[in-house]
This record gives sequence, C-alpha cells and structure tokens, in this order.
Amino acid sequence: MDATPFLPALSGLEPDELQRVLAPLEKFRAKQIFKWIARGVADFDRMTDLSAALRADLAARFRVRSGEVSETLESEDGTQKIQIRLRDGAKIEAVLLIDGEGRKTACLSTQVGCPMRCAFCKTGTLGFLRNLDSSEIVDQFLFLQDAAGPISNIVVMGMGEPLLNLDELSKAIAVLSHPDGLGLSKRRFTVSTSGIVSGIRKLTASGPDVRLAVSLTTADRALREKLMPVTKSDPLPELKAALAEHQKVREKRITLEAVLLGGVNTRPEDAAALADFARGLDIVINLIPWNPVDELGIEGKAFVEPSESEVQRFERMLEARKLAVTRRYKKGRGVAGACGQLGSTLTDD
Ligand code: SAH
Ligand code: SF4
Repeated sequence: MDATPFLPALSGLEPDELQRVLAPLEKFRAKQIFKWIARGVADFDRMTDLSAALRADLAARFRVRSGEVSETLESEDGTQKIQIRLRDGAKIEAVLLIDGEGRKTACLSTQVGCPMRCAFCKTGTLGFLRNLDSSEIVDQFLFLQDAAGPISNIVVMGMGEPLLNLDELSKAIAVLSHPDGLGLSKRRFTVSTSGIVSGIRKLTASGPDVRLAVSLTTADRALREKLMPVTKSDPLPELKAALAEHQKVREKRITLEAVLLGGVNTRPEDAAALADFARGLDIVINLIPWNPVDELGIEGKAFVEPSESEVQRFERMLEARKLAVTRRYKKGRGVAGACGQLGSTLTDD
C-alpha cells in the first residue's frame, strides 16, 4: 500500500497564486519558485536560491509536479508519445510532433477519456473519467520538454474535449504563457473543439487569446449527427453563428478540421456542404486522413482509411470551391500517437 500522503502540486499555479498558497511568502520568493518550475526543475532541493529550511518545508507539504511518466514511445519520424500516470492511477497521453523544419509542437490532453463519443475516435470509446487540473495539463508540457528541449507550439488536440474543461485549461495556458516563466505566446496555442457552442461563446467572452480549431468533419447535418452526436445538442447553424461571433471579436482565422473516412464524408455533397458552412467565415480546412482504429464504424459498417486518390479528389473539390485547404500528414502513427488514436494503449494493463 502507498503510505505517501497526498501532496498538492505547484506546477499549475501562477506566481500570485503560489504566493497565496504558500502564505506567508514574499512576492519575489514566489517568483523564484515559479521560474524554477518553468525551467524544468522538478525537485525542491535543486531550487538553490531558496533557503534549506524553505526547501524542506515545501518538500514536506507539496510536490512540484502531479504525475510521473510511466512510458515513453518513439516512432521513426521522431514523434514521441509519453504516457503519464496521475496520482489517482489514471493514465493520460501527450505527444511531441516535429515538423519538416524541426519545429516542435506539443499535443496536450485535457481530460481522462472524453464524453463526446465521436464515432471515429478511439478516445471517445473510453467514455469520460474526469477533467485534468491545470498542473496535470502544464506537466504534460514539462515532461515533453524534459525529453525534447524547447517546444515552440502547443495544440490542445489530445484526449478529451478542451472546452468542457476551459477553466483549468485557461489556468494552464496562463502559466505556460506567463512572462516570468516560459513566456509562450498565446498565438502559439491552438485549441480544438468538437463544436461545443456554449464553450466557444465562453472562450470568446472571457477565454485566452488562442487560435481556435473546430472538428467539423462534415457539414452534412444527417451524417454529422451520426458521426458526432454533439450535432444534436449543438446544431450546425448555432455552431456557425458562434464561430462568426468569435471571429468578429478575435479577428483570427479559424481552422476547420475534417477527418476523412473512406467512402463516407468525401462525396461531392460533403464538399458543397463544407463550402456552404464556410461562407462568410475566414477559415482554412485541415484534412486529416482517418487513422485506423479497430472496431469503429457506423450502422454496422467499419470505417476504412481513405485512399490517397480519394483524399486528393476531395482536396480538389474544395479548392475548386475557392477554399483554403491544408493536409495533416500521418505523423506518430507508429506509436499510436496520431490524433484519435490516443487511449489505445491505456486499457492494456
Ligand atoms: N476533442 C477535441 C480535440 C481532440 S481530438 C476535438 O475533437 O476537436 C483531435 C482531432 O483528432 C480532432 O480533429 C478529431 O476529429 C481527430 N480525430 C479523432 N479520431 C481520429 C482518427 N481516428 N484519425 C484521425 N483523426 C482523428
Ligand atoms: Fe472527444 Fe475529440 Fe475524440 Fe470526439 S474527436 S471523442 S471530442 S477526443
């Protein structure tokens, strides 16, 4: 049995919160501790500008980070996936992606599992277990940086629906972008949602100034209701209205992600519906060929990967409608770390 008492982690707190939690503590001390954590120091004993007495007191009452890396997997293209074991035994995953120019991007999770149950997504099959707190989100970044060195971009596209955990995500973003710490620009964060209208409105009204991506997948209502059940509670016209409002306030291009399922959502009518949805918005469409997950499908029919020619044909249909299109390459597949495959190693033990 684990007799270690539960100690709260400090990594998810901004300097002024640190000062409050550690009161009485001078402001400059809180700032020193914050800087050490941002620099990757995970042990109070290495915070050498604090007195031995303070270090001992901190170690008795707190931990720096909230979990530990339980597994690291690396694929041939340089992608790394880490599995983190949280203090309650729950496991989450985070992925490091490296692009052609050597730029590093961290893909972070926001929930253990996910309640949205999109038909094509592995994480969705786990169901929802719990939200992560801000330190559990920050720690994913810190663990990836321990292994890979400085990371410049963050995509919140791992396990879970970020806009259902916007408060803790916002705290984590405030910590990671804080000028006394890592100072990552908010524009280097992209938050991806399945299309939660109330969450988008909340982000617009009071959330951090990050980039927004929406997993549209198809704008054909009947098909989207089958692929993404959120469409029933949050219909497409309301989603579009929330995006238009967001764009009016934030003045940033929005990404529409489309996971392409072979023979399902690559028809001419899907291209037409996407173009219709995009009208009046400043958007770029990111095509994501579906990464295979066993036993997923709709109406008794298993999903299949789209062929290369099918993807190209669909891309041309969109371009013919004057839409900006990009494609996500299949990084990380070797470690099951590509999007939508997260969670596939979680239930093995
Ligand atoms: N829950 C959020 C963010 C995490 S999912 C969201 O849905 O946007 C990140 C992206 O992976 C989404 O665009 C999702 O549509 C996509 N995705 C899910 N399963 C996939 C799969 N098997 N292959 C490729 N992409 C997938
Ligand atoms: Fe959740 Fe995103 Fe997967 Fe849908 S695609 S089940 S919202 S993680």
